[in-house]
Amino acid sequence: MAIPDDIIERVRLSSDIVSVVREYLPDLKRAGRNWKACCPFHNEKTPSFMVSPEKSIFRCFGCGAAGDVFKFVMLTENLSWIESVKKLAKKAGIEIKETNEDVVKVSEKTKLFEILESSAKFYHRHLLESPLAKTARQYLEKRGINQETVKKFQLGYAPRGLLIQSALKKGYTSEDLSKAGVITKTERGTFFEYMSERVVFPIFDVQGRVIAFGGRTLTDQNPKYLNTPETIVYSKSSNLYGLFQTLPELRKERKIIVLEGYMDVVIPHQFGISGAVASLGTSFTHNHAKLIARYADSVTLLFDADDAGRTATQRALEILVEDGIQCSVSSLPEGVDADEYLNEKGKEEFLKLVEKSSKSAIDFMIERLSAAIKRNVPETKAKAVSALLDFAARSGNSIVQREWIKSISQSVNVDEEAVWREFKKKQHFKKGSYGVEKSIDVPLKESRRSLSLEEKLLKVILFDKNLMKLLSDDVFEDARCAKVYGLMVSGAGDADILNALGKEDADWFSALTMDETEYDNAEESLRVILKDVETAKLKRKRQVLEKEILLMTEGKIANDGKKIAEYKKLTILLKGSGK
Ligand SMILES: [Zn+2]
Repeated sequence: MAIPDDIIERVRLSSDIVSVVREYLPDLKRAGRNWKACCPFHNEKTPSFMVSPEKSIFRCFGCGAAGDVFKFVMLTENLSWIESVKKLAKKAGIEIKETNEDVVKVSEKTKLFEILESSAKFYHRHLLESPLAKTARQYLEKRGINQETVKKFQLGYAPRGLLIQSALKKGYTSEDLSKAGVITKTERGTFFEYMSERVVFPIFDVQGRVIAFGGRTLTDQNPKYLNTPETIVYSKSSNLYGLFQTLPELRKERKIIVLEGYMDVVIPHQFGISGAVASLGTSFTHNHAKLIARYADSVTLLFDADDAGRTATQRALEILVEDGIQCSVSSLPEGVDADEYLNEKGKEEFLKLVEKSSKSAIDFMIERLSAAIKRNVPETKAKAVSALLDFAARSGNSIVQREWIKSISQSVNVDEEAVWREFKKKQHFKKGSYGVEKSIDVPLKESRRSLSLEEKLLKVILFDKNLMKLLSDDVFEDARCAKVYGLMVSGAGDADILNALGKEDADWFSALTMDETEYDNAEESLRVILKDVETAKLKRKRQVLEKEILLMTEGKIANDGKKIAEYKKLTILLKGSGK
């Protein structure tokens, strides 16, 4: 659901950022135009977290966190943006109504859910009853899947062409089916049903609604597994296969095992192993991690023991570590799938293996780099250590980091202190990278890079927006300055601008606008900078002409009297300005 812009603005206006922040940070104190406190998003002893009541934004000069009042509540309370708006709206007594557009969207979604639900039922019924599904039933039996599991996961079979017929009869259009992701139009204008002649694994969201399908071929057809595409109700990076079915157990155990495929999930469920889920044919994302954090306190990764599996494991670990989720890695013997192992050896053996092979995230990384470490070539070793330290830096927890650095130094047989020095060095250069900032005691100050003329200009008009009228539309040539100026001209406030920029630009912009420079006479400062900007422009123009005139004197191009005259004029002008 989207909230209308005017309502968001009303909520923002009614939620004074200083009062809201002060509820969370009672130590917030006035410091000049801004308010200051120790940052809630990283560890520090000297306050570098600032709130500007005028601009209605906050910024931490230590870790770079910045945003408006909604973002602050979002970050501190771990809410989505919409939840944060709703929370502040409730507090301000503002009622949030869905816009008409949303009503249309909601009803469209409802329709897609209906189609997906009835498709799942259709496939399921065919698997259970249809003579066409004989091979599919044999396949599942061969993989050791029993009837109870077929029902629990609503497994199905898609006989060629029949779903479309049945859906059209029910009054859905081919466009509806296509929006639900069940079919797609081919170049020849015919329809292709994704699941056609495949064993079907319906994908459920945490509310138990069917949102998509995965299908396994029964022939040699490629690909072996095929998923229906993303739709307005299905995003593969925000869903995990099997999560819905294991929710009751997760409430008791809060432990998740992430495996690779559909079968790897279905079979453990059948054996009464709780918490088995799989990411859906996509690499692990922060959205997955967030989803996991809602239902579990720890995660075990159990991917295939091949190269692709190890790479996927590392990627997933990086994300889980960054998001502060406790994680470990277990492994199966090479070439063996989880479902095979379970069918062959049973639950107890499987659990024993998972436990026995369990490694911490850092031990997994050390093992992954062990070849380089063992070679005993200093440079190779240093490279390996560097990769391990990068990994350790992803954790926002200094106790975890401390332990990991101990492990690293032991594994490479290098003095712990030397490893620490390397780590500190890295952190120094890594300002703003995910996770790092949280562990540093002393905030890394904004680099003292001097501002460009255009940045100085922008800073003055951010200080006093009335001065904007003194500028011409094309005054900014630098792309991000021009972008911010464009937004300002269209009436955007600092918070809107911040929200409209990407992370890096937002970081840059918030530092610029929260700068504490006081101008005695902002207009005068503006005029001085403008003059410099103008001079710089003329200088660049003169440089271009100079090159051309050089070519003219060398006889390489024809003389151009106009250009020569302009060059002379510019030279006199620039002398006159004293530059
Ligand atoms: Zn901070």
